[in-house]
Amino acid sequence: MSTQGKDPLIIAHRGASGYLPEHSLAAKALAYGLGADYLEQDIIASRDGVLLILHDLWLDDVSDVATRFPGRSRDDGRHYCIDFDVDEIRTLHFGERVDPATGVEKFPRRFTRAAGSFRVVTLEEEIRFIQGLNASTGRNVGIYPEIKAPQWHADQGVDLAALVIDTLAANGYLEPDSLVYLQCFDAETLRKVRQSTGPVLPIIQLLSSKTTVDATLLRAIAEYANGIGPSIKLILRGLRPDGHYELSDLVSIAQSLDLEIHPYTFRVDDLPDGCSDFSALLRLFITDLEVDGLFTDFTDLVASFMSDPAK
Ligand code: CA
Repeated sequence: MSTQGKDPLIIAHRGASGYLPEHSLAAKALAYGLGADYLEQDIIASRDGVLLILHDLWLDDVSDVATRFPGRSRDDGRHYCIDFDVDEIRTLHFGERVDPATGVEKFPRRFTRAAGSFRVVTLEEEIRFIQGLNASTGRNVGIYPEIKAPQWHADQGVDLAALVIDTLAANGYLEPDSLVYLQCFDAETLRKVRQSTGPVLPIIQLLSSKTTVDATLLRAIAEYANGIGPSIKLILRGLRPDGHYELSDLVSIAQSLDLEIHPYTFRVDDLPDGCSDFSALLRLFITDLEVDGLFTDFTDLVASFMSDPAK
């Protein structure tokens, strides 16, 4: 169902990851406090089948795994989460994302590795944490889990979607009106989830910047999903010579199909080509295009824009 005309949802992308290391509990608490409507969880599995909130299939870019567990990498040099038990992963120090080859931080102005270390969080722990905050604040902030690489997990012998759905069911997220969206890049996985859970669980089909999107594809998505999570680049193609934005027709087609639109990722320190400043980007997507939600690393900046769009 489209939410045009209402304030779009603020989806805290990996938490308040603009200020604290992605997917740390601290980053989730900060995003909660800054006014997010939904907190995002990227989900992968450990060797012993525990669901962890981590973005990559490997641990190298966000932890000290290489120095702590030498000799445990695969042929590509990476240490995969699925090759470690959760108790091993719990001993690692997690921090800001770096290039493991050079140690250079991906976002140099963000929280540094030197400023503190963090621990891995399981899906169960994070759900308890958010529900605890909902109880103590009286607010109702939702979860926004992503099933990461389900086909890859299947090749490793893990039915990741089934594990995620079981956890959502056990925690009350398959009830009507519970605050949850389930997201995935893999269409087949989402089709199966829709078949098994029915319409009670809102589903978002993620679309990468490399996807060729047309009306036929969006109509097919509308058969099993409530909305789409497109890369900003699928909508904002660039700047025309006359200074106007070059936009695709994705938004208008999706709106005509009553699909919600939750584009990613809004970052003040990583603006798309052709965009002059963060407020201009937000004005385009929120005021002009009327998208239904935004994945952002900077919950506070989006909240602040929505409280005063004229500034
Ligand atoms: Ca994600």
